[in-house]
Amino acid sequence: MELADGLTDGRRFRCGACGNLTRFDVELVERVRRFWHVDLAGQGRVEDSDSLERTVLSVTCRWCGSADAIQVVDALTVPGGTPAGRPTAGDPAAGGGARR
Ligand SMILES: [Zn+2]
Repeated sequence: MELADGLTDGRRFRCGACGNLTRFDVELVERVRRFWHVDLAGQGRVEDSDSLERTVLSVTCRWCGSADAIQVVDALTVPGGTPAGRPTAGDPAAGGGARR
């Protein structure tokens, strides 16, 4: 199993120790190409970004601190709704429980 798969669409991390699906510390090395747009006044901003290469060094559960029980599983989707792996901000159902 490749941990980087947990960052791709349709896949997600799951902590096998406590069941957490939503909160992880992910340490990674990434090579990206960015479209950097600088206006005439010199203010720059990134308008597009492509991840060319990504290596996940570690994934740690924010709930229980486990780093050796992290699994990569399929992200369930709700027909007509947002993918379960990408809860909307402020969604009280996100997190799979009342713990923070
Ligand atoms: Zn956990």
